[in-house]
Formats: sequence, C-alpha cells, structure tokens
Amino acid sequence: MTKFSDLSLNPKVLKAVEEAGYETPTPIQAGAIPPALEGRDVLGIAQTGTGKTASFTLPLITALARGRARARMPRSLVLCPTRELAAQVAENFDTYAKHVKLTKALLIGGVSFKEQDALIDKGVDVLIATPGRLLDHFERGKLILNDVKVMVVDEADRMLDMGFIPDIERIFGLTPFTRQTLFFSATMAPEIERITNTFLSSPAKIEVARAATTGENITQGVVMFKPSRRDREGSEKRSLLRKMIEAEGEACRNAIIFCNRKVDVDIVAKSMKKYGLNAAPIHGDLDQSQRMRTLDAFRDGTLTFLVASDVAARGLDIPNVSHVLNYDVPGHAEDYVHRIGRTGRAGKTGTALMICAPRDEKNLEDIERLIQSAVPRRDLPGAAPVETQADEAPEEKPRASRSRARSRSRASSSAAPAETTPEPPATEASTPPKSSRSRSRSRGRGSREPVVGMGDDAPSFILKSFEERRTDA
Ligand code: AMP
Repeated sequence: MTKFSDLSLNPKVLKAVEEAGYETPTPIQAGAIPPALEGRDVLGIAQTGTGKTASFTLPLITALARGRARARMPRSLVLCPTRELAAQVAENFDTYAKHVKLTKALLIGGVSFKEQDALIDKGVDVLIATPGRLLDHFERGKLILNDVKVMVVDEADRMLDMGFIPDIERIFGLTPFTRQTLFFSATMAPEIERITNTFLSSPAKIEVARAATTGENITQGVVMFKPSRRDREGSEKRSLLRKMIEAEGEACRNAIIFCNRKVDVDIVAKSMKKYGLNAAPIHGDLDQSQRMRTLDAFRDGTLTFLVASDVAARGLDIPNVSHVLNYDVPGHAEDYVHRIGRTGRAGKTGTALMICAPRDEKNLEDIERLIQSAVPRRDLPGAAPVETQADEAPEEKPRASRSRARSRSRASSSAAPAETTPEPPATEASTPPKSSRSRSRSRGRGSREPVVGMGDDAPSFILKSFEERRTDA
C-alpha cells in the first residue's frame, strides 16, 4: 500500500498531512499526486468524499513552496463552481500549507472587491475563485494571468451544469499555454471530454470508483407518495417529510434535505421552521455571508436541518450527517449518488430516505438502474392520500406537532421516538383555525373538511352534512 512518505511531497506538507491525522493516501491521492508532482497534466475522475481536494492541494503546495508571486500575478489558480466549495478548498489549503510560507486569496461573490484587490495587489501564490468573480476582477484590470503555472479545475461537471464552461474556456485562454492543468470531474459528459481534449496535454488519467451507494453503512429507503389532490401535493409532501423525520426518532441527529428546485428549498425550510424544526435553507440565491453562517451552524450542530439544492451542497464536506432526506427524486440519477454520499462517511452509519411522487417514478427507475439495486420501499402512515385538507402555512401552528418537533430538535431530550407516538394523518390540517369553529363540523362521509374562502360568512347550508341536507329537503 502506498504511504504519504512515498509520494515525494515537501516534508513540511507531509508534516501537515500527518497532523491532519491521515495515515494513507486515498486512491485518487495515490494516483494523482505522483504525476502532478512530475509536472504532468492530470485528469481525475472522482467525486467528493474521495479525498480529491488533497490530491491537487498537496502537489500544488509542494510545487509552489519555492518562489514568490509578483503583484497581481498569481502563480496558481483553483477554479470551483460554488462559493462554498471555493471556501472549502481555501480551508484545505490553510490546513496543508500551514508550515509553508504561501499566500492565498479567495475570490468569491459576496466579498468586497476592495479587500480582494488589496490581497491580489500584494501578490498571491494561490488564487481560489469561482469563474464569474475571477473574470470580473480580470475585466477590471486588477489581475494578470500570465504567470499562472498551475491551473486546477474542480468539479467540472458541476461547472457544466451551472453554465460555466464558456467562462472556463475563456480563463484557459488567458493563462499561459505552458501551464500545468489538474482537472477534476465526477463524470465525463461529452462536453467535459471536449474541454479536456482541447486544454489538457496527454494527461495522466485517474479514475476512482464511485462511492458505494449500496454500502452496508447507508440504509436506504423510498416512500411512494400519492397526493390526494394535485393542489395539495406540496403541503402533503411537506407533511410526509415531517413524519419521516419523526419516524426516525432520535437516530436523526441532523439531516440534509435535498430539493430539486431552489423555490422548494425556501418553501420547505420555511415550513419546517413553522412547525418548530430547527431548519435553514441553502442555495445559490442567498447571499454569501448568510450561506456561510448557515453552513457553520450546521457544522457546529446549532442547526439541525439543512435544506439544500444540489448545487449548494455539492462538494461540501460536512462530517457526521446522520440522515439525507430526498424531498424530491433527483432528475439525474448521479445526483442521487452524490446526495446520499453526504451520509455514512468515513465508515459511519447513515440513512438516506426519499419521497417519490408518481411523476418521479421514471427517475427512480434510472437511479435503481445506475446503482444496480432496488431502493427498498418503506411504508409510512400518511404516504397514502390523506382525507383532510392539508393547509400549508396555517396562521396557527399545529400545536401537537410543534411541541413534538421541538423536542425532536433538542438533540438528546427524553422525547419518545415517533414510532411510539404515531402522528395522526394530515398534521398540517389537524388543527383548524381558531376563528372557524363551525368549519370543522362533520361533513359528508365523516371526514372533517374545513370550508375555506368564506370566512365566517359561509351560508349555513354549506356547513351541513349531506344527511342533514337530505333531511332538510
Ligand atoms: P474531499 O473528497 O476532498 O472532499 O475529502 C473528503 C474527506 O476526506 C475530507 O474530510 C478530508 O479531510 C478527508 N480526507 C482526505 N484525504 C484523506 C486521507 N488520506 N485519509 C483520511 N481522510 C482523508
């Protein structure tokens, strides 16, 4: 087995690696570090969780350990698709370069240009940036890319999803032809292949196995969900999500809840908060400082539920997540692999649950084809159509559910797991609004369906049951 000491890394880098507690290089590290140190281009096909950040950071620091950067002329460039990922790479850099005198700057949106300009003016060895922000600085004449010796592109497939490929091509064109390129992508879409063929020169190709998705340490499950009516789908789905969390009891210490759309990230987070769950959203439209605060809170345990979009959560290294909850079945099967890979890390156990609406069944099939196994179906009370009106975001909170939820968010409270306190169906509707005493009168086949939209002015015949009306007639 390869050891870090076999990899010809700078002794100061080795020391930092040792202090970080890593004993052996991961396969992507063992494969990418030697050719990177030889100055070759590297094409790494690896996803988050494989140790790929260190596989480019360690040789980069080793290569830059000698020499100094000139004003406005960074010696290396690391491009990341999201601000969070860029910030994470910067953290990694600080960890591994702590015994080496190197300077870095992080160019991401949401941070003032002035501060960043001042750093660049002094000269930086490593510039870690998102493509848009980097080009903004370049266009303002604050940055010269002629001295870039190493360029790293991280998570290229996500760059593609986010429409950054033209920016990446442009940045490649602004750097010297003689630069070394370290290029990482979880997948090789045709567009990515084209870029690598154009800008990489006979790269060493290292492909590491996809993280085991059906590994014994991740318990998977999917709840098949059928809304009672199309216009209730959202509220019933959110209700089901809460039931899912309750049913997991105390095993659910914290969770990332993935939604396919940003708008749902906001709605789900807001709804969870309304129901007393300690949740916050993270997606690309939120400002940088807020995203960082949310992420820090989730990392240090003050936030229990992180509601996220794929892009925002991609690449984030958050250890110790007990649960991944897929509010939606992801549209790309590969995203399922990325999402559930957020739990069960480093040999720990994890649970990945998903809600599948009828229209998502095709996507579920794609996932099962990709992971070559069936995601076990789970039954959950409430997954079937509910009879009562599930009225999202009521002015009044459903008290019972709220207090239970509160006790859930207290990490090790004595609250009984939800299995022993089953929730009645359609929690969101189970407490009728105060001002409508009459609305909950029994109607039809014994179901309690509040009359909405007429306030207290509902004509009395509407409030009668079918039986009462028949008798009247
Ligand atoms: P990454 O794929 O770069 O996001 O890394 C995933 C996680 O693996 C991070 O928490 C790293 O700190 C950790 N890690 C990286 N290299 C090693 C290693 N050689 N041994 C153990 N853990 C590592």
